[in-house]
Amino acid sequence: MELIILGCHSASPRQNFHTSSQLLKFKNHLFLIDCGEGTQMRLREEKISFTRIKHIFISHLHGDHFYGLIGLINTFKLLGREIDLNIYGPKGIKEVILIQMKLSKSFTNFNLIFFELEKKYPEVIFEDDLVKITTIPLKHRVYTNGFLFEDKLKTKKINYDNVNLYKIPSTFYEKLKEGFDYKDGKGNLVKNSMLTFNSISPFSYAYCSDTSFFTKIVDQIKNIDILYHESTFLNRDIDLAKKTKHSTAQQAGKIASLANVNQLILGHFSTRYNEKSSFVLEAQKEFKNVILAEQGKKYNF
Ligand SMILES: [Zn+2]
Ligand SMILES: [Zn+2]
Repeated sequence: MELIILGCHSASPRQNFHTSSQLLKFKNHLFLIDCGEGTQMRLREEKISFTRIKHIFISHLHGDHFYGLIGLINTFKLLGREIDLNIYGPKGIKEVILIQMKLSKSFTNFNLIFFELEKKYPEVIFEDDLVKITTIPLKHRVYTNGFLFEDKLKTKKINYDNVNLYKIPSTFYEKLKEGFDYKDGKGNLVKNSMLTFNSISPFSYAYCSDTSFFTKIVDQIKNIDILYHESTFLNRDIDLAKKTKHSTAQQAGKIASLANVNQLILGHFSTRYNEKSSFVLEAQKEFKNVILAEQGKKYNF
């Protein structure tokens, strides 16, 4: 999995401080998560193929998370896109996009398919053979969801010495990775444990922005690999965090600790802070394995 941070700041975009958007390369998919103003320029900077983006997930209808969407849709049209575009977001997202298109008398040559969300409990919104995506209802000033991306298959690593020894045909390797035993034409059985190494548990990534400190999400993200959690404020502005229903870095650390995740990525920083090292220090009071989201940085997991 590769995660590219297109923007990780709150409120309004400034040069080199773009608002929320990230691209997740996951099992042959390119998932765009949130689409703050100027996201299309960030996609160009990162040399991302526009046509490969087929699914866009919008957490909530605050401008720093979706003001880039209408512009991106228009550019897709200008580039002659024909393939469907699926947009997942809060109820109202269809109306807000279509009214802009209607009043500007614009249209698309591709299908715009909206999946409007309004449930207050986790809901599976995308699933194929390899990936499952579930909403993570958050607590913010407006209806907001995070998203949990999960690898569906527990794949095993092939023990090549032994598969050669037992002359297992390579066409059976995928089955071995899924845990099946091998039976040859004469009915002889070779146990899967002889042919593979320990399973690698399925990968999982959760995007949680924007939200106040909300322990209700902990059960849903228990033991996941990577958690991106908003940390708009530092402790000295905790009153502001409460008032605006955002989190501090330490609160993000607390959620990571309660959920026992592998790694925490902090993001959605207020532009009031010039340096970011305090975010790490405050989160580490609760949870050690913390990194900062950095615009343009690619994380491979
Ligand atoms: Zn925001
Ligand atoms: Zn917000």
